[in-house]
Amino acid sequence: MTYLGAHLSSSGGFYKMGKAALAIGANTLQCFVRNPRGAKAKAINPTDLGKLRELMAENSFGPIVAHAPYIMNPCSKDEGIRALAAEMMAGDLELLEHLPGNYYNFHPGSHTGQGVETGCRQIADMLTAVVKPEQKTVVLLETMAGKGSEIGGRFEELRAILDLAQCPQDRLGVCLDTCHVSDAGYDITNDLDGVLAEFDRVIGLSRLLAIHVNDSMNPLGARKDRHALIGQGAIGTEAIVRVLTHPALRRLPFVLETPTDDAGHGEEIAMLRERLGEAQSA
Ligand code: FE
Ligand code: FE
Ligand code: ZN
Repeated sequence: MTYLGAHLSSSGGFYKMGKAALAIGANTLQCFVRNPRGAKAKAINPTDLGKLRELMAENSFGPIVAHAPYIMNPCSKDEGIRALAAEMMAGDLELLEHLPGNYYNFHPGSHTGQGVETGCRQIADMLTAVVKPEQKTVVLLETMAGKGSEIGGRFEELRAILDLAQCPQDRLGVCLDTCHVSDAGYDITNDLDGVLAEFDRVIGLSRLLAIHVNDSMNPLGARKDRHALIGQGAIGTEAIVRVLTHPALRRLPFVLETPTDDAGHGEEIAMLRERLGEAQSA
């Protein structure tokens, strides 16, 4: 079965979130480790995480994706904001040691006028400082729409960060967001093979470890980053199904971040499973 899920709220605890995933037909999920606005990390609750781990094993879940807070910016021109980013990532990764073998995805950041080169170096410096060789979580850089001074709209920028980071390369990977790459000008709608070939040439497909499945409210190259429901944007259901069924991507976790609630995500998952020939009879 394709690993398909959605971004869910962990505010009621991690085990409860796992149950919510099952209820919508998901076998992977994404969540924030802490309040998305950047508040303090939840007190580590190994029992709750242990129960989620059991639920995931019993239900053949794929790897899940923890998402860093949106406010995290490791390449801000403000040194204090950069230090806070490192602190937040270190804290989140510490908690995730209780959930081994999963992913931690973050937005590379916005260079706020410092330039792409300086930005990439600062992001790599944070990874060098925070990512431990022995950690059980793989940290993912997310492909971005490239709006404003955002880094990660070009595959080359992600490659540069990976190259500059002085940490074990098997602890670092990439998460591709379908809305973001389309907004960044990569035509996954009409030329998925071409985009994946470009990804492979610049970064290497072996580094691609998770997919965010979103339609886009805006046309190719718009650099806006406004997610749409599957089938209600510029990418369309057919192109999304081609992503889900591409032989190079088959075993990756696919996570919906479309603008709807759990029930809405459940409907999208059911629709996509139907298209994949994975409809549940129960
Ligand atoms: Fe994201
Ligand atoms: Fe995303
Ligand atoms: Zn987005």
